[in-house]
Amino acid sequence: MRQQVQPHVLIVEDEPSQRAVLSYNLESEGFRISEAEDGDAALLMVSEEVPDLIVLDWMLPGVSGIEICRRIKTRPETREVPIIMLSARSEEVDRVRGLETGADDYVVKPYSVTELMARVKAQLRRSRPAGVGETLRYEDITLDAETHRVHRGGQLLKLGPTEFRLLATFLEKPGRVWSREQMLDRVWGRDVYVDTRTVDVHIGRLRKVLCTHGGADPLRTVRGAGYALG
Ligand code: CA
Repeated sequence: MRQQVQPHVLIVEDEPSQRAVLSYNLESEGFRISEAEDGDAALLMVSEEVPDLIVLDWMLPGVSGIEICRRIKTRPETREVPIIMLSARSEEVDRVRGLETGADDYVVKPYSVTELMARVKAQLRRSRPAGVGETLRYEDITLDAETHRVHRGGQLLKLGPTEFRLLATFLEKPGRVWSREQMLDRVWGRDVYVDTRTVDVHIGRLRKVLCTHGGADPLRTVRGAGYALG
């Protein structure tokens, strides 16, 4: 994962006033900013220089934010870039749909700038999990914290950044039961509000990826308590 002194954030938003507010606030926090007003411009910019994080509006003219998100998350070179989706939609189903296309976080408009900044920082902070340089193992699963590669039975698995960090948390203490709240603290950060349903969505994704090439589901749902590895 690339770590820069001044993280590069790409803002994809078609409303000039909203783009300006985001740009102003992110610049004030010391980030380097690029701006795109539609999906095509965003994809072009991402292909020229991979940013450290993308703030992506859902409703865009032409290619939708969801489609942009999907494309960025399917390319190996951009798959690990955290994406925060912005949307005027507040229905739970939309939130879940947003997360299922690969977005790492989802913020409903009108949002508080303070909250959005906290989420941006949390995403950037957790781009690097605990235990850098270590290889964590459990049965046939290995996680290399330095190269961010995860293998199961010798096969390389494609994990998003949130799933990677969830797995790293489980691998640190196999057998331990983690509550959703504990996982939120560890994976999303204490200062960010994320509901527990989000944990379930990401656990579901992690399970799916871990079983890509077969093998039993190594994660255990502990009723009323949370999740455990093994
Ligand atoms: Ca818009």
